[in-house]
Amino acid sequence: MAVWKSRRPDEEQALLPRFTRSGMVEVPRDRIPDHVMLPQTAYQIVCDEVMLDGNARFNLATFVTTWMDEEADRLYTATADKNMIDKDEYPQTAEIEARCVRMLGDLWHAPHAEQSVGTSTTGSSEGCMLAGLAMKRRWQQARQEAGKPTDRPNIVMGGNVQVVWEKFANYWEVDPRYVPLEGNVFHLTADRLLEHVDENTIGVVAVLGSTMDGSYEPVQEICAVLDEYERSTGVSVPVHVDAASGGFIAPFLQPEVVWDFRLPRVVSIQASGHKFGLVYPGVGWVLWRDAEHLPESLVFHVNYLGGDMPTFALNFSRPGAQVVLQYYQFLRLGKEGYGLVQRTCQDVAVHIARTLKTMPEFDVISDGTDLPVVTFALAPEVTKYDVFDLSRKLRESGWLVPAYTMPPKREDLAVLRVVVRNGFSHDMAELFLRDLRTALRWLDDLASPMPHEVQPSGFHH
Ligand SMILES: *Cc1c(COP(=O)(O)O)cnc(C)c1O
Repeated sequence: MAVWKSRRPDEEQALLPRFTRSGMVEVPRDRIPDHVMLPQTAYQIVCDEVMLDGNARFNLATFVTTWMDEEADRLYTATADKNMIDKDEYPQTAEIEARCVRMLGDLWHAPHAEQSVGTSTTGSSEGCMLAGLAMKRRWQQARQEAGKPTDRPNIVMGGNVQVVWEKFANYWEVDPRYVPLEGNVFHLTADRLLEHVDENTIGVVAVLGSTMDGSYEPVQEICAVLDEYERSTGVSVPVHVDAASGGFIAPFLQPEVVWDFRLPRVVSIQASGHKFGLVYPGVGWVLWRDAEHLPESLVFHVNYLGGDMPTFALNFSRPGAQVVLQYYQFLRLGKEGYGLVQRTCQDVAVHIARTLKTMPEFDVISDGTDLPVVTFALAPEVTKYDVFDLSRKLRESGWLVPAYTMPPKREDLAVLRVVVRNGFSHDMAELFLRDLRTALRWLDDLASPMPHEVQPSGFHH
């Protein structure tokens, strides 16, 4: 005890075996410690603590990238000091961001891709906020010009939207109108949309790749009924596509699906660079159809090489390295590489879904053919345990598989979800299926059913 209690000179501290050094026994938790400690000691303490987190590679719950090439890791280290807002000091990073925006404009068929209007963000959430704000401001301006009130804006979306849209509506005081799920359709469809839309609707959110089950909402049909609505009422309601995941999947795996700027009603699209864009956490993208759809009153101007650089962001400073990594991935993989990576994920997902279909314990809800996401419920005959028990049991072998109930009107349905991402190989899928069978056997062999506890209601990924 005396060793770590007494403060010794640094040279002496460095001689002590690492786990006997000051700081090691009493790890400060609530106050910044009064004194310095050796960097190796601090490193060890923090490293050991975060080991308690689940292993990212076994995390089948997240959509977010957990593996990149060694070269990407090196690039990350080399660019960790870059601040995205310092466009004047880091003009090349600013140029790289602009290139990525143009590449995405091209990928998503913007009418003038070479002049694409958009920005990197910290993730899809910031992109959703910005796109939602732009829709709100444009609606306000149009209403003001027409001499109509602007105090009751609403936004229409499926009950399955990601939590960010609830946040958007709350923070920016827009009435959220959720179209409830019905039967076995777990996302927004065109047929039930119009009863929720009116002249106060700032926009409709269509999700390309629902977080609930990975299914694509029919963006083209949604736009078509809104075209019809405009013809009969004169009210034009824009569509924002939340392509957090699908923005980097559909162009490579389902090029025939028309969901992007090819549809004139789609005014903005956002996607997560850190999901199937294949970059570590911290980057998203939002693009507008053209400059007209991003109101000038929302744009701020920063100094850029003595000139003027327009920005639209919630943050000021934020890391630039992820933007550099996105550009790296675009160069490294090209369309061919993205296709190969996403196709492999889809093959693994479809294989898992097919295997689950042969198992009497499961009902497969989504089979990985839209996003590489497999959602499955327990068959009604299974009464001894539920999906929450199975999720917990799988944790024992390291797999993080979330269990959750579906949104309102289908809360009766509880599911498990596996997101297949780059790095979840066929081999790992076999190991997962093996452990899944073992878990089922264990639960089945119980002498009596698992006791039930109150489940947390929401799961937000
Ligand atoms: C993940 C996700 C979001 C939020 O994205 P972040 O990049 O995590 O901020 C929004 N919408 C959908 C459909 C998502 O899947």
